[in-house]
Amino acid sequence: MSTQKPPVLPFLPFALPEIGEEEIAEVVDTLRSGWVTTGPKAKRFEADFAAFLGDETRGERLHCVAVNSATAGLHLALEALGIGPGDEVITTTHTFTATAEVVRYLGADVRLVDIDPATLNIDPAAVAAAITPRTKAIVPVHYAGLAADMPALLAIARRHGLKVVEDAAHALPTTCGGQLVGTLGSDATVFSFYANKTITTGEGGMLVTRDVAVAQRARVMRLHGMNRDAFDRFTATVPSWYYEVVAPGYKYNLTDIAAALGIHQLKRANAFQAQREALAAAYDEALAGLPVILPPRAAVGDHHAWHLYVLRLSDGARVARDRLIEHLFAAGIGCSVHYIPLHLHPYWRDRYALMPAMFPHSQHAYERMLSLPLYTRMTVDDVQRVAVAVRAALR
Ligand SMILES: *Cc1c(COP(=O)(O)O)cnc(C)c1O
Repeated sequence: MSTQKPPVLPFLPFALPEIGEEEIAEVVDTLRSGWVTTGPKAKRFEADFAAFLGDETRGERLHCVAVNSATAGLHLALEALGIGPGDEVITTTHTFTATAEVVRYLGADVRLVDIDPATLNIDPAAVAAAITPRTKAIVPVHYAGLAADMPALLAIARRHGLKVVEDAAHALPTTCGGQLVGTLGSDATVFSFYANKTITTGEGGMLVTRDVAVAQRARVMRLHGMNRDAFDRFTATVPSWYYEVVAPGYKYNLTDIAAALGIHQLKRANAFQAQREALAAAYDEALAGLPVILPPRAAVGDHHAWHLYVLRLSDGARVARDRLIEHLFAAGIGCSVHYIPLHLHPYWRDRYALMPAMFPHSQHAYERMLSLPLYTRMTVDDVQRVAVAVRAALR
């Protein structure tokens, strides 16, 4: 006699990119073209990105600088804004280490602050309380794809003469007060095209700024501090091998192979967002009534990019977060935690003598949160399957 086993479902990964035939054809075209590093496709991707954000909005031109990661873009933005030794930059503890590490690259110090427990975004009141005479900039993160409270943060920055650089790694496309993140009036905004982000170039990022001086400095510093890039030199009407090194720059340029992916991913960004929003709504419905806190929603009329679907267990839940993750994994479902807050990592904890009690809201959320799979290649059936597994684990 054979025992009846339930059918084994394939493993549902935590994240998967969606790369189509147009992306593949564009990459092949790039490979055949003879120009594989930064060149015509990177330029086109920059122009398309500016058009996507609306380069005509409010009569101000947006400058887009393609880079090989958001980390690079954040570094370049803060460098261009003059952040250096002796300065302090305020950001959230509830983020990935890249947000803060770039401050240390420049020899400046990081002031980590707590989040608003309702939104999991940086708390403007905590920002205001952390300002010292050394403070030079604020780096908000649009956590999970939900806009941070930019009106409050920009008002604080204006009052204290601070720069604002938005970490928009999760926020394509996100709106705040009906305006796309990237056009909100900060000094710079940086998007990520890492493999699991809402659009991907494998690795890549985009620095967006209205400040022409920031854009010019970032363009020079992304390529060794050279004042003309290779494409400019080789395509000049007068052939020219000449360039000048004006600073000890970095190697942060985006390749045309990556930009080829980005050109087509960007065209699909709004459709991807609609799919993610529908999947998030399906999760909300399927998880309603459980001892969980559903992710915060965007304000009425605004868009959440839904990079992450972050579920929190209620204080009354009888299963711990780690056990829930184990249950889901046993059911063939990948999930993750975004993020282990910076104040718990040895480097940040020890450098700044940080303790969990200094960040009660981030700590409380961290102990109870997990990110469920959310990506465009999932179906509503996949969402139901995850919800059934969560429900079973919480019983
Ligand atoms: C992914 C991510 C980054 C870094 O992006 P890269 O393109 O991988 O450098 C920075 N900040 C946050 C919040 C992220 O999620």
